[in-house]
Amino acid sequence: MSDCIFCKIIAGEIPCNKVYEDEDVLAFHDIHPVAPVHFMIIPKAHVASLADCDESHAAVLGKILLLAPRLAREQGLDHGFRTVINTGRGGGQEVFHLHVHVIGGAGPRPM
Ligand code: AMP
Ligand code: ZN
Repeated sequence: MSDCIFCKIIAGEIPCNKVYEDEDVLAFHDIHPVAPVHFMIIPKAHVASLADCDESHAAVLGKILLLAPRLAREQGLDHGFRTVINTGRGGGQEVFHLHVHVIGGAGPRPM
């Protein structure tokens, strides 16, 4: 997806503050953090949103969810964190490349 900002980050065309990378996923800090720790985990293969996923995405979705607590701990979130997946315009999604927000360090908040 040539016009996708997160694909450009994956391709190294736009810089990011990297948290983790392997052959399937990339994690990087959100440019507008809403808490002391706020990063995103994304699949390297472009998929617009959770609503666009199918069985072929099951492995990478599982990998992302299993990475979240590990990376959160590595970022110092010893007491828990919030995961957010905004899906579609009605779900507040602004960047249409699937991403899981991992947010923490500011104490509990109402949903
Ligand atoms: P969402 O509403 O879930 O689509 O959120 C998109 C998120 O991407 C927002 O929290 C933005 O701050 C973040 N974002 C947009 N552009 C960048 C970028 N170049 N680097 C890091 N985070 C970004
Ligand atoms: Zn993309």
